[in-house]
Amino acid sequence: MKDLRDFLKADLVVEEEVDPEYEISAMLHENPRKTILFQRVKGSKLPVVGNLVTSRERMCEALGTTKENYILHVTEAAKRCEGEFSLVDNAPVYERRCSSLEELPILKHFEKDAGRYITSGVVIAKDEEHGRNASVHRMLVLDGHRLAIRLVERHLHEYYKKAEARGEALEIAIVIGMHPALLFASSYSFGINQDELCLASALLGEPIELAKCKTVDLEIPANAEIVIEGRILPHERVDEGPFTDITGTYDKVRKQPVVEVSRIYHRRDAIYHALLPSSVEHRLLMGMPQEPRIFASVAKVARVKNVVLTPGGCSWLHGVVAIEKRGEEDAKRAILAAFEGHPSMKHVVVVDDDIDIFSSEEVEFAIATRFQGDRDLVMLRLVRGSSLDPSAGKTGLTTKLGFDATKPLHNLSAYEKARIPKK
Ligand code: MN
Repeated sequence: MKDLRDFLKADLVVEEEVDPEYEISAMLHENPRKTILFQRVKGSKLPVVGNLVTSRERMCEALGTTKENYILHVTEAAKRCEGEFSLVDNAPVYERRCSSLEELPILKHFEKDAGRYITSGVVIAKDEEHGRNASVHRMLVLDGHRLAIRLVERHLHEYYKKAEARGEALEIAIVIGMHPALLFASSYSFGINQDELCLASALLGEPIELAKCKTVDLEIPANAEIVIEGRILPHERVDEGPFTDITGTYDKVRKQPVVEVSRIYHRRDAIYHALLPSSVEHRLLMGMPQEPRIFASVAKVARVKNVVLTPGGCSWLHGVVAIEKRGEEDAKRAILAAFEGHPSMKHVVVVDDDIDIFSSEEVEFAIATRFQGDRDLVMLRLVRGSSLDPSAGKTGLTTKLGFDATKPLHNLSAYEKARIPKK
């Protein structure tokens, strides 16, 4: 079964000892398009890899597709996933045991971050009613055996609230160091009853091999690099944050739950995956899984051709949607549907399908030559948006703009692209 090592192609190998506080994050920040392997990390026996996914093309490679076919490929995979897994004994991830979080090369990334954060951990949990869940959460190291975990109000939060209402802790396994398809699947917006690991199997083209955990009643991918087993404690909250999130600005301090670690295991020669917040890799892993949902939402109202969350908008706040326009109102309907598909999106540009949505120059060209502010702008004043946008203000409300940069169907001749005849 494919793992992190199958995907890893280091562009740069650093042999000198580096400090997990700032030094590694600075190098990853300066080289966003280079996968870097740090062989010797101060205070830990484990090496670190960062910028594992360096481009949209590499992410698509991990998912077995291309950037042109990506949305269709993932949508099809999501439809055909079934819950078949094989369970293996003697899983590589259980080869070694370590005694404390202090032994792991967990980074401190930015100056005002609250401390050392695990950012590439997939948290696996189970609920009697909803089944298994896998999702990515940031976790702040409190001491050798405790973490603060940020739970946004999605599935794991729901599982936790149910356990807490019974006065119980929620068992979890935090898995670090996997093939990017698993990280992608764990960030995908599935329904609460759907298992993200099934999507990962469908994307990898083979059922994931799982291993039984030692101290919690869960199963995890057998060839992950590291696993931290533990429980999210009921009725306990600590300060979590500040933390640098996808926009590269500091997310605020909140009261969040606490993970009590029971055991830590890793492969004999484990590699720790460091995911630098606000990096290309972070943005692609968080933003790309939203694009199929935007596509599906727009498909209900228009003939949608492709969708992208653009890098300049942190792969989160700005989208471009290409449609094949068949009615004058198609683009305006597409704008509203795109916002429904991804409520965190603040600005969206709808273009005709002759525009390359991966080219910011072409998208700007469409705005320059096909858009009029009084006629083609849609403004949604003070609606729910992203909490990660510092301009949104304390109320959590934001103003959204949609740009209809499509050609009016009644006057297409004015937009004809001039050609040079062949002699
Ligand atoms: Mn889920």
